[in-house]
Amino acid sequence: MSSYVVVQNLAKSFGDTKVFENINFVIEKGEFITLLGPSGCGKSTLLRCIAGLNSVTSGGIMVEGQDITDLPPQKRGIGMVFQSYALFPNMTARENIAFGLKIRGETPDQIEKKVKEVIDIVELHGREDHLIDELSGGQRQRVALARALVTRPRILFLDEPLSALDAKIRKRLRYLIRQVQKDMGLTTIFVTHDQEEAMVMSDRIFLMNNGSIVQSGTPAEVYTHPVNEFAAGFMGNYNIFDERLSADYFGLKSGLKSAVRPEAIFINEPSDKVPCLERPVPGKIVFKQLLGNVVRYSVKTEGTEVSVDLLNSHDKVYEEGDNVQLYFSRDEINELRAG
Ligand code: ADP
Ligand code: MG
Repeated sequence: MSSYVVVQNLAKSFGDTKVFENINFVIEKGEFITLLGPSGCGKSTLLRCIAGLNSVTSGGIMVEGQDITDLPPQKRGIGMVFQSYALFPNMTARENIAFGLKIRGETPDQIEKKVKEVIDIVELHGREDHLIDELSGGQRQRVALARALVTRPRILFLDEPLSALDAKIRKRLRYLIRQVQKDMGLTTIFVTHDQEEAMVMSDRIFLMNNGSIVQSGTPAEVYTHPVNEFAAGFMGNYNIFDERLSADYFGLKSGLKSAVRPEAIFINEPSDKVPCLERPVPGKIVFKQLLGNVVRYSVKTEGTEVSVDLLNSHDKVYEEGDNVQLYFSRDEINELRAG
């Protein structure tokens, strides 16, 4: 059986400006995929190409076995939500949600039933007859989501839908979107530049940089095993060890750099839960920061400075100036691909 969405050798240029090329991936029905990467790396352009809002330069897009590469957007069976809401300000929430169904020529009875259903789903009761201007940012984005859902799309596209909202509302809507998506079994492509948002929402993350998908995998895979220096830099607070230190400290023979996350290093005694390298690296604590749930130590070793995170409940506390030994979790030393 073929996959729900298949993207093959997709390339897009604007005139002489190449945004991406050789983009290949498949998505299964019901998956929540996040395109994650820094501003300008090509996330929106890739999404817009799949949605048909931009033409592609070459390559193909299949959905449910159908080639949609040259179909107009309204024939693709997609729902879109943008950061900017893109709602009609002179209409009520209800009218905005119903708009697409009216255009399709559905009967008033059908429209009323479907609109009521999605208003329930996005929890907009009591607000449905307000004008868009009378709604908060979070409520507007619920209207935009309802408008996308009401057409029963084959794929839902969300381009930074939460980026304009403040932190608390953003977290509530993350949860709502994921909940609705799971309940409906809706295949979804979500765009964000926010690593945490990608981690908590996605089945799989496609990490992008400079028009390429650098790495794809579950949040846990991408977070714990970055494949190159960019991925290690984007996904967490990884320590990067150059070629020489990777050989000296970890015995790596590949001649590559390596990355280790701060919570995979232990001070003065190896963890009793994870296998550690036998030979510790000596160093001196030069800085200590209380981040809240963790304490972050900067440890100066021969050759570099290493960040180590210990849970704030840890019974041992170290002070600036202490001489210590660093133990590295064996499975957490990630050799980094060049480039
Ligand atoms: P992201 O969504 O990851 O921030 P975009 O897909 O918006 O990135 O942009 C990727 C690159 O494509 C940028 O360099 C941007 O300037 C360029 N780009 C996007 N849209 C257009 C356009 N309509 N014409 C020319 N260049 C564009
Ligand atoms: Mg964008």
